[in-house]
Amino acid sequence: MPRCPVCDAAVDLTASPTGPFCSDRCRLVDLGRWLDESYSVPDVRRAGDDESAGESAGGDGGAARPDPDLEE
Ligand SMILES: [Zn+2]
Repeated sequence: MPRCPVCDAAVDLTASPTGPFCSDRCRLVDLGRWLDESYSVPDVRRAGDDESAGESAGGDGGAARPDPDLEE
């Protein structure tokens, strides 16, 4: 017997109209996770790009360079 991918309960496909899920609620939970992932993946990538770029440019540059112009 297949198992519900959300709550891992055994699902009787012949008796369940909700597909591989044990209930409509689990179907919605899985759909919600899916949408959440497709929304957050590009978001996380953008945020990560921004953060790493800003960190290496601002924080690293400031700490590595002790203002050579001022010393001369
Ligand atoms: Zn379930």
